[in-house]
Amino acid sequence: MSSNLNNRNRNFLRDVFAALAIAVILVAGYFLYQASLVTSDYLDDSDEELVDVDFNREFKFGFDTETHHFETSRIKNNQFVGEILTENGISYNQVAKLEEKAKDIFDVRDIRAGKRFHLVKKDSCNDTALAFIYEPNPLRYVVYDFRDSVKVDVVEKDYSIIVETASGEIKSSLWQSMTDQGINPGVIDLMEDALASSVSFYHTKKGDRFKVIFERKYIDGEAVSLGKMLGAYYQNKYGEYYSVYYENDLYTGFYDMEGRPSKKTFLKSPIKGSARISSRYNLRRIHPIKKRRIPHLGTDYAAPYGTPIMAVADGVITKATYNRNNGRYVKMRHDGTYETQYLHMQKFAKGIRPGVNVSQGATIGYVGSTGLATGPHVCFRFWKNRKQIDHLRENFPPADPMPEDELPEYFELRDSIRTMLDQIPFAGDLKIESEPVKESL
Ligand SMILES: [Zn+2]
Repeated sequence: MSSNLNNRNRNFLRDVFAALAIAVILVAGYFLYQASLVTSDYLDDSDEELVDVDFNREFKFGFDTETHHFETSRIKNNQFVGEILTENGISYNQVAKLEEKAKDIFDVRDIRAGKRFHLVKKDSCNDTALAFIYEPNPLRYVVYDFRDSVKVDVVEKDYSIIVETASGEIKSSLWQSMTDQGINPGVIDLMEDALASSVSFYHTKKGDRFKVIFERKYIDGEAVSLGKMLGAYYQNKYGEYYSVYYENDLYTGFYDMEGRPSKKTFLKSPIKGSARISSRYNLRRIHPIKKRRIPHLGTDYAAPYGTPIMAVADGVITKATYNRNNGRYVKMRHDGTYETQYLHMQKFAKGIRPGVNVSQGATIGYVGSTGLATGPHVCFRFWKNRKQIDHLRENFPPADPMPEDELPEYFELRDSIRTMLDQIPFAGDLKIESEPVKESL
């Protein structure tokens, strides 16, 4: 600031700067990690002179970028942190101290090749490092500080959450229609969770349409991870399905329009993720090994050897044994009506034996090809009243809804999420009119 400004201008400028300073503090609280480092010197009430303030002052990992020099690189294969540090002026003694101190905070042995790190120095490039900053992932960084004694600190970066929407129509596969639009395929998993009780994602068809509302975390304007799915909508030839994420002290998860949890009574498949159905339940199948018509009373999911096999519902193990056709297999009873069976296992999971209770989603064994099998897969068999049925065609009873007194609060959220979903247009398509919601099948 030049000193020949008259007083009025000075006061005006001071007010502007004061306002700016407040804005900077507010913005800094949001975007920078060290709002407290923005000094308030220029807010003092001296009329005499303006303090020279640099509003562009920026901090990186807590260090003023004006007065520090940063060297950024990646950890190389077989490179030790001690090696990097001693090459940059840190004594063996300090390195040893650091390793000891870091143990309980962020062990230097957990530092991985390929990850980014920064050496913080005084302006000159050949100076001794003041600090070593390691970034294990985009959400946090670790400061190994050598300025006085040795300090180790893990700093969570501030992130902002932005609510985003996406929609699409399936042309070939759900995965394809997501990636065609640049949607993170991770959204598919979230959507499958949200709509688990009403839509079978093994049976997506050309022309099915979806809309989703989800959170995404941003750091410094860069998307770093997906957050929660807030709402999802799916339309297929059977109807329309909505799902809303609800969370309070007692209830957390996805619920349908009536407040019924989306948690399925039975998982649609004993293999997590996108296992391929290699053979469906079929009463007229020609057996691939015996070459004659033998009904296939299960559903085969092909997956690599060793893939975990999950219990599709809570239940008790009734068999964990071996025979010539089934190979190593497990059978479970879920209630008076339903039993499930899992064939051709490579091995059983630890502790799996008759009489043991397991919960839905627990690993009971691993994919193999024991018994009569041409390749690694699990033959999944579903028993209803002691008869084998096609579980993909079975309509299971819906889970119980939230209690009456919880519903009004839920309905409030449900209505706003549903309105949002209805307002998302289908990508490259006319917005369809929303119709009354049909219930899950
Ligand atoms: Zn089979």
